[in-house]
Amino acid sequence: MNQRFDTILKSGTVVNQDGEGIRDIGIANGRIAEIGGLGNASAAEVIDCKGLHILPGVIDTQVHFREPGQTHKEDLETGSRSAVMGGVTAVFEMPNTDPLTVTEPTFTDKIKRGRHRMHCDFAFFIGGTRENVRDLPELERAPGCAGVKVFIGSSTGALLVEDDAEDEYRLNERKPLRIDGDPRSHPVWRDETAALMATQRLINLARETGKRIHVLHISTRQEIEFLREHKDVASCEATPHHLTMAAPECYERLGTRAQMNPPVRSADHRDGIWRGIEQGIVDVLGSDHAPHTLEEKAKTYPASPSGMTGVQTLVPLMLDHVNAGRLSLARFIDLSSAGPARLFNIACKGRIAAGYDADFTVVDLKRSETITNQWVASRAGWTPYDGMRVTGWPVGTFVRGKRVMWQSEVVTPSTGEPVQFLETLKA
Ligand SMILES: [Zn+2]
Repeated sequence: MNQRFDTILKSGTVVNQDGEGIRDIGIANGRIAEIGGLGNASAAEVIDCKGLHILPGVIDTQVHFREPGQTHKEDLETGSRSAVMGGVTAVFEMPNTDPLTVTEPTFTDKIKRGRHRMHCDFAFFIGGTRENVRDLPELERAPGCAGVKVFIGSSTGALLVEDDAEDEYRLNERKPLRIDGDPRSHPVWRDETAALMATQRLINLARETGKRIHVLHISTRQEIEFLREHKDVASCEATPHHLTMAAPECYERLGTRAQMNPPVRSADHRDGIWRGIEQGIVDVLGSDHAPHTLEEKAKTYPASPSGMTGVQTLVPLMLDHVNAGRLSLARFIDLSSAGPARLFNIACKGRIAAGYDADFTVVDLKRSETITNQWVASRAGWTPYDGMRVTGWPVGTFVRGKRVMWQSEVVTPSTGEPVQFLETLKA
């Protein structure tokens, strides 16, 4: 048999639901056509992947790309460039842009802006409000919609909550605890009780309404211990920064650059979230990429805005944790591709299988690199990990068969398309 493909990835170590092994992957028309020994097959392009690991494309289920409205910080092109530079093949973008993504025209406008301008595939969340609550069942079925980020009222799918990740009443009450010029007081003000109270309230709502709930960016040990008792209704996300940094050290070293909501807390909480990874309680990773310019971040705390870049450093940071023995490579792909596919019902992404989109994150597990601001493609132009040495590096990003990034260069013009969901496949 002499098969012909568009591209063959030759002799990579394929990491998949059936374990890992050295295999070739044949790609045709943007899809995975064949996995196995393809020694007799031919292709327009054969890419030698010897010594490299080929993972299912990493899906970052929480980013803020600031377009429209705040494009001096980031836009859909620069944000997605940063994503593919870091090995990410698809992103889910949040609705807190200006204007907010809460109506059909604002949603369609984002899809139009993203198509063939973003370098990776994408979906957008729609924000649920009191005003649009009756339109949500229709809106959330729009192609390219990842779901509704809403406090309550979604008719199908998951309730997704972010701004309510900490109890607003308690935060207002504790505002005097902020110390001017001292970001170490950030997690004192926004304490673990505020985070736990909000999560408890959400679980109550999920039980009352009979909806499942996805809790974003877990920041405390207590939330993990609480959520393990509620896995029947709740899924949850952890972020690389809550797994990597710890207070007070990060604030002493980085100042307001470490300021994020919910805050990075003590090592005790970081260890508690790792326990959530280890015990299988955490379902997905999201970077919560929330860029601000260095000028904005240089304001004196608490005038400084909360948020940092993260989409480009998710893969290298987590590979470094894999190399340090904190999680297995299998658990990493469970959190970054299979997990998102399962939670959001993504069509044809999230595993390496014949018929699926040829989305791959190609990594060199042995390569040591230093993360630098210069490497970061985000318009914000900085990362809190500048100067950090990691082992494990993304060397290639494939989106629907196209080699988009190779050896830290964007090599193919952007052809990002909306992610397809099982419920909203076009007829
Ligand atoms: Zn966020």
